[in-house]
Amino acid sequence: MSETWRARTRMIHGGHERTPLGETSEALYLTSGFVYERAEDAAARFEGTDPGYQYSRVENPGVRGFERRMALLEGAEDAIATATGMAAVNTALMSHLKAGDRVVSACLLFGSCHWIVTEWLPRFGVEVELVDGTDLDAWAQALARPTTAVFFETPGNPTLELVDIEAVSRLAHQAGATVVVDNVFATPVLQKPLQLGADIVVYSATKHIDGQGRCLGGVILCDAATRQDIIHPVVKNTGPNLSPFNAWVLSKGLETIELRVREHVRNAEQVAAFLEGHPAVKDVLYPGLASHPQHALAQRQMAGPGNLLAFRVRGGFDEAFGVLNAFEVVRVSNNLGDARSLATHPATTTHSRLTAEDRAELGIGDDLIRLSVGLEDPEDLVEDLDQALNRGVPAALRAA
Ligand SMILES: *Cc1c(COP(=O)(O)O)cnc(C)c1O
Repeated sequence: MSETWRARTRMIHGGHERTPLGETSEALYLTSGFVYERAEDAAARFEGTDPGYQYSRVENPGVRGFERRMALLEGAEDAIATATGMAAVNTALMSHLKAGDRVVSACLLFGSCHWIVTEWLPRFGVEVELVDGTDLDAWAQALARPTTAVFFETPGNPTLELVDIEAVSRLAHQAGATVVVDNVFATPVLQKPLQLGADIVVYSATKHIDGQGRCLGGVILCDAATRQDIIHPVVKNTGPNLSPFNAWVLSKGLETIELRVREHVRNAEQVAAFLEGHPAVKDVLYPGLASHPQHALAQRQMAGPGNLLAFRVRGGFDEAFGVLNAFEVVRVSNNLGDARSLATHPATTTHSRLTAEDRAELGIGDDLIRLSVGLEDPEDLVEDLDQALNRGVPAALRAA
């Protein structure tokens, strides 16, 4: 692979090494371990004087290929793959923390990320402060004290609020913190947190990286020393590893990720514009719309507004459920980043664990529907949304 090749070329030709058999497609190394010609070879592998493989919890050639391809896409020195996105979040944070440390996190988080920072980390004596991720003064105040790690998602789930990566990274570094960004909603194609000052990026590869809803996976991107000295020892000894089979599927996903994400965005822009003009819709939350309160920030830090949006129907719980149950093309699911368009009712699913007050504070009402816009023909999506809104929201509630 040449250093001058661009991202799309690298996603097809980069990362993986051909075996001497010269296969066209990447080889799948479905093996737990490796054998050695002689006992001396095994000893040399464990000593580190022979760089070969020993066991797939330590390294697997196909998983390593996926990691290198991801690092090429992100512009990171290296990467380490995990079994799920949550394993990536947990491992990235835990490998940097010990009792007595302090974490500052945005409060708008994916359900399980919220659980990790509010329930799991405190169990090990880690102090956690949550802030409104959109409020730079709140970040500055929280980061006026020494801090070990900063964590946020941008855009955040499910209301698509943004965090200013560059400004928060600067404040975090002044407090001595390592900045960990969950970049799932933006995708590695549309937002590069490392270039904006973040230290570590995590993904649920289950989402756009696979892109077709087939398997779970996660990945952590960072510099080579952080991988080798801080994160790999934790992965190798605690075992949240990605399976070689899933690594192979995800590597194939990377071959088409740029094309897919670009089309996802085109569809989402069309759907968002349609929803914003619909009389059964109260408002649309999408960083690509001029009505988004952080539209300018989205344009500054993202190469495109992504395929996730949320909208509030006119009415409440009954109307939101009415719309969800009337969909014919769009499917009801809590997943996202799939070729299929998927709609979620966050208040009763992904964010049902929060108290009603917390949900109200985060803008997650009963009227809110999150939509992951897929790769179907956008005309079919618009027609489906139109008929579902008209069936789900009674005429009396619609705007004149
Ligand atoms: C899905 C998701 C995760 C968790 O990923 P899994 O692969 O399901 O474990 C974490 N963060 C965000 C923003 C997600 O959307």
